[in-house]
Amino acid sequence: MSDQIICPNCGTLNPPLSIHCKKCQFNMRDVRSAEQTLLVPEETQDIPMQSPTRRAYFPKDKRLQFYVEQADKNLDISFENDNHMILGRGAPESHVMRIDLAPYGAASYGVSRRHVRLIRMPAILIVEDLGTLNGTYINGEKLSSGHAYVLCHGDTLRLGGLSLRISFVEAENKL
Ligand SMILES: [Zn+2]
Repeated sequence: MSDQIICPNCGTLNPPLSIHCKKCQFNMRDVRSAEQTLLVPEETQDIPMQSPTRRAYFPKDKRLQFYVEQADKNLDISFENDNHMILGRGAPESHVMRIDLAPYGAASYGVSRRHVRLIRMPAILIVEDLGTLNGTYINGEKLSSGHAYVLCHGDTLRLGGLSLRISFVEAENKL
């Protein structure tokens, strides 16, 4: 594995196996033990050098938007006070904030009740598949369950057969 590690605190790309971020000194080992490995997906290394960071960079003044392809609809996602969020279908069964994709045909597209967890770090957004039957894909690449992956602006996140295009948009850009 030669993946670079993106700093969850400032978004800087660091060499593989770095412990402290070279820019802000953030201790990435603590985060890795808590959230498992924070690796830049292999495919992002094919795009120009400054792009992985810029695409992955998700600071507090941006907000998350999904474009639900099958429904041709934009969904604005607010993390509010909790930095963790579950995407799935049906009513929430715990206090964890939850986005219900049932109105977009989630059941027929094979979305699990608890499909993925999103974790908002200070500078990046992480996604983790929760051991689903039909799997989770970023730009067509299947995720390993229980591992953390960095989501980038422009990525397509597919839950089973339901495709969500990820945008990081200016927070003041209310629709
Ligand atoms: Zn940093």
